[in-house]
Amino acid sequence: MADAHRLSPSSWNRYETCPRMYWLSRQGLPRKAGMAASLGTAIHASIEDLLNMDISDRPKASMGWLPEVGEAFLKDRWNEEKTAFHDTPRHGRWKDDRWKEAVDGHRGGIDLLLRWVGVEGLAHNRITAALWSRVQERMLAVEGELISRDGRLGGRVDLLLNEVDDQGQTVAWVVADLKTGRTPEGKLKPEVDRQLRFYRDLLLANNPDAPNVRAEGWYTLNRTTWRASNDGVLEDAYAAWEATQPTEVPLEPTPGPNSCGGFCDWKAWCGHWLRWRHDSGRLDEGDFRDAVVRVVRRPAGSSTVEVERLLPGEGPGEVVDGGGRCSMLFVGSALEKLDALMDEDAAAPIFIGSALAKGHQWRVGDWCDVLPWTPHAV
Ligand code: SF4
Repeated sequence: MADAHRLSPSSWNRYETCPRMYWLSRQGLPRKAGMAASLGTAIHASIEDLLNMDISDRPKASMGWLPEVGEAFLKDRWNEEKTAFHDTPRHGRWKDDRWKEAVDGHRGGIDLLLRWVGVEGLAHNRITAALWSRVQERMLAVEGELISRDGRLGGRVDLLLNEVDDQGQTVAWVVADLKTGRTPEGKLKPEVDRQLRFYRDLLLANNPDAPNVRAEGWYTLNRTTWRASNDGVLEDAYAAWEATQPTEVPLEPTPGPNSCGGFCDWKAWCGHWLRWRHDSGRLDEGDFRDAVVRVVRRPAGSSTVEVERLLPGEGPGEVVDGGGRCSMLFVGSALEKLDALMDEDAAAPIFIGSALAKGHQWRVGDWCDVLPWTPHAV
């Protein structure tokens, strides 16, 4: 079963957003690191470290140690993430100035855990070993793997919590997923709701005698919790498992504002977004733009380059001249990437992702993709 196809909530969400995006994500293409994801992982891991640490030798009444220990965990995880970020083939600039956000998210996670045991607004240096033990005792699992009995569905649950009544008797299990991003406006985003219901229903399927089970998103930014909706998802999850079987043939693309419009990491390998952007009149929308270009003039040693913007040709991924000329300023690692590509083939089309297109000159910097344009011809 080791190599058998298994669907996780994040893969499922990717498939629902655009089947081609899901398919491309499985092709071993160079991965992209993002600061927000690294920051979130560091917060998650440091909270888990606090929950897993052995405090049995601390006097029950001792306090003042948790903020320092927690921040040391966070620092270690932050540094781990920084290394992983720089080891990822496509990465921008690591932003040390976001450390403050990491500290705030970490503290937000602690606040949510304190609330879980009925403690509100307590300064963290007042947390005693006895109180933190109470928090730890209410964890049934931390970062636990959850896999369906047939092995087809699975993922990792951040926290599985035990809800108890006044007598300490279990009344419910709560699946909680720590969220370090933007807080929902009015209701959970569909992909988060789907993910939470996936874990809840899987847990119930594996444990038919479980008490009540509910799933919640715990948002560290403003310390709020959001409950998933009731509808079951396992039938849909198994349908998605069928549809996402590994295949040589690329899955269908579903280009559009909610799929290509920002967060697809695989545009350099997909010709469909360019056609969609062109046909919907959105080539020049927004301050940060993607483009396929060909360098037409580069004065020796200059970081300012004149490019021809390319337009979609006949078939998927084909490009032709005609988008007009513009000037681009390449800085930092973007300039190094441009140099490497031009050394290979100075006339080949290049994909530029997220260039700042304000004013007469586009700015292409560390935050941008500068990749060979190699889309699939289907
Ligand atoms: S660029 Fe758009 S159509 Fe292509 S894979 Fe990404 S989301 Fe799908």
